[in-house]
Amino acid sequence: MSHEMSRRGFLGATVAAAAAPSADLMRLANAAQPAAALAKGPIVIASANGVAAVTRAMELLRGGSDPLDAVVEGVRINEDDPKDGSVGFGGGPNEDGEVELDASVMHGPTHKAGAVAALRRVRHAASVAQRVMQRTDHVLIVGEGALRFARAHGFPEENLLTESAREAWLRWKETHSDDDDWLPPASQPATRQHSRLPREGPIERDYGTINCLALTAAGDLAGTTTTSGLANKIAGRVGDSPIIGAGLYVDNGVGAAGSTGRGEANLQNCSSFLIVELMRNGKSPQDACLEALKRIADHTEPRLRDRNGRPAFGLAFYALARDGRHGSATMWSGGNYAVHDGTDAKLVASAYLYKQPGNS
Ligand code: ASP
Repeated sequence: MSHEMSRRGFLGATVAAAAAPSADLMRLANAAQPAAALAKGPIVIASANGVAAVTRAMELLRGGSDPLDAVVEGVRINEDDPKDGSVGFGGGPNEDGEVELDASVMHGPTHKAGAVAALRRVRHAASVAQRVMQRTDHVLIVGEGALRFARAHGFPEENLLTESAREAWLRWKETHSDDDDWLPPASQPATRQHSRLPREGPIERDYGTINCLALTAAGDLAGTTTTSGLANKIAGRVGDSPIIGAGLYVDNGVGAAGSTGRGEANLQNCSSFLIVELMRNGKSPQDACLEALKRIADHTEPRLRDRNGRPAFGLAFYALARDGRHGSATMWSGGNYAVHDGTDAKLVASAYLYKQPGNS
């Protein structure tokens, strides 16, 4: 399989400029990221919906905050935002109309982790994951147990389904969607979802999540990933976000990595762990992300490939090395990630494996 690789560097630009990069900025994007020229922390990076989160996390780091406290507080902005339809309050529900959240945290200095999955009725899933890390001998608590744990720790309960998320879900339900996640046995032809394949490029699907990674001036790392997961998923479905090694991984001596996008593909490849290991072996953060995407592309089953044999889904990785270098790569072109380098917050173009049809 041939991989179209480009935009190997990064594009530093203002948020506004990154939305519509000029030719000059795009040329800048092709410049390799010089490791030696980059200062150490504090640095915070996040998925593209994380400009406010990296700003908040940086404020806290500057005030001497622990890096995990900083990122958990940063992503709270998304968890509270009903307009971020993929995280916390206002997140897309499962196929029964119930919002179920997944989140993980990992703290570099102690190498401890915490996570919750299929958590209902509590919006700050990353904070609950942090509490699992701090106040239990476990790493992952799911479903009803996660809700009871959050309740015991005084997290407020509420209905997380906003009117607009309910209306979107109802439309999906009423049109008797052809894009649910049930598949017939292999012996029977798929008549609904994925029957639109083969086509060219990724299928639009309601993914969204925030991953946020921080490095302090002292060289300590932490990260979190928080999400309502795949909209209209089967009840109880758990994605990659709360799985340590898949949706998030931190090794304080090497770097941190996290993901957004099709969780199933990441779960089958443990990519955040892989990215950190690739950085340990000398790859730059961006090249490690691209390598993980190639691994996934090679492992993708035929049902999920477009007519050119490429994965027909979106997936993005973010990585921050202990020396302050950072990078991101997406399966398909057009992605950005948020960076705060201590000066300002900006969106930076992600590298990519494949060019979206119609993307210049
Ligand atoms: N990775 C998340 C999941 O599969 C979804 C997303 O990032 O949009 O649950």
